[in-house]
Amino acid sequence: MAGQRVRTRFAPSPTGYLHVGGLRTALYNYLFAKRMNGDFVIRIEDTDQSRKVEDAEKNLIGTLEWAGIIPDESPVHGGNYGPYVQSQRLSIYRDYCNQLLEDKNAYYCFSTSEELEENRQLQLKQGLQPKYNRKWLPEDMGGSMPESEIRKKLDEGAPYVVRMKVPDYVSVWFEDIIRGPIEFDSSTIDDQVLMKSDGFPTYHFASVIDDHLMEFTHIIRGEEWLPSMPKHLLLYEFFGWEPPKFAHLPLLLNPDRSKLSKRQGDVAVEDYMRKGFSNDAIVNFVALLGWNEGEGSEQEVFSMNELIQKFSLERVGRAGAVFNVEKLTWLEKQYIKSRPVEKIVSNIKPLLLEELKQRPVEMPVDRISSDAYLGKVVDLMRERVNFENEFVTFSSYFFFEPDSYEQEAVQKRWTPETPGLISEFATVLEAADDFTAEAIESALKAFVAPKGLKPAVLIHPLRIVTSGVSFGPSLYHMLEVLGKETVLRRIARGVERIGQGA
Ligand code: GLU
Repeated sequence: MAGQRVRTRFAPSPTGYLHVGGLRTALYNYLFAKRMNGDFVIRIEDTDQSRKVEDAEKNLIGTLEWAGIIPDESPVHGGNYGPYVQSQRLSIYRDYCNQLLEDKNAYYCFSTSEELEENRQLQLKQGLQPKYNRKWLPEDMGGSMPESEIRKKLDEGAPYVVRMKVPDYVSVWFEDIIRGPIEFDSSTIDDQVLMKSDGFPTYHFASVIDDHLMEFTHIIRGEEWLPSMPKHLLLYEFFGWEPPKFAHLPLLLNPDRSKLSKRQGDVAVEDYMRKGFSNDAIVNFVALLGWNEGEGSEQEVFSMNELIQKFSLERVGRAGAVFNVEKLTWLEKQYIKSRPVEKIVSNIKPLLLEELKQRPVEMPVDRISSDAYLGKVVDLMRERVNFENEFVTFSSYFFFEPDSYEQEAVQKRWTPETPGLISEFATVLEAADDFTAEAIESALKAFVAPKGLKPAVLIHPLRIVTSGVSFGPSLYHMLEVLGKETVLRRIARGVERIGQGA
């Protein structure tokens, strides 16, 4: 393997959505391959036809691309080692299965599911670990089934599976990059089914063959596949192939340290996308689920490029990684604070244009969807939003006239004097040439001082009529961004509607 080009793969089953654990596996494979200037490949493992979901593979690849994980080879991108979908490789598996049968490393099994279940129950009752009882192991392979019986069944066309013959009393050993040396005793290993009665291979069989034929150098996958290792290693041995290197990633845990499950929160990457999390934050978050840069590093925010430069399998831990959504939310905020304004503007513009189609338009669309206008909204609001979509939803008053006024704030801040005062101040604003935040602030102070009033008597009502809510960014800056015409119109409308009890 020395000097060989590094090749890794993400091999999802197309079951409908991308699990966050799957995203982490894909990301680590991608980071490792890119770090080593190698290839990252996506292979679709659809040998369990009953679990297959239409379009799942396109969605999976689309979600990975959204995350910035672009494969060098995949069913969509092509490549020299295809097909990359296992259901299109059935004849390959059949040929290798025949080879194992010929070499007497595998045998036909005609046991029915009822028989298998009966056998299982019996073994459980005896306190044994359930294993196939080798009823159909041929005489010439150390079993008791005569060749003639097997022939007869085959000639009858009876349904069968093909099982691997696990050698007795051998120990199987490998060195995991993350966990170190691991040894298995063959007596614990079942005669694994390699070919199912529907003519499809099992995961174990197909993945070993493909991992070899596609020349992967490193298999990086979840810890749940560790118990399958002895079966896989035996298959490599049967074929006389050198196994790749393996790294089994730690489990993802709920905050209570149970295995990450749907019951305690969302597990599909799409759920987080829908909530408004960005690809930057999700990738950064997932990267830290098991990997850290090393002692002494305080850095938590990593771009994809930094991750590629810094990632190493040696720094992936063995202990389960807690999936802590607060950390993801925190990361999202860090990205919103630091993302270039132009980037945010281009991200939120489509959302705004969509909203503008749905709701009554108060201001010229060209103006409020311009880069300049959106840029000002972003500057004012970026400290206050949790997600990019909140630039449009949470601060909707920058784009839409308020359709109601926060009742509690009206009750607290709107006195019988307010309509007179605010209308009078509107005439001052109307006459002003300068509508900058500074000019508005001085005008307001100059207006209230001779009356012996505090600025607050106008600040709060002005915020209510222009935004509909009692909180937000600096009032003066908000008014400047909204512009004189809009502010005057909203004051007049607000006075009228609040007077009517709106
Ligand atoms: N198809 C398996 C899965 O869905 C792949 C396991 C492996 O990477 O070998 O997770």
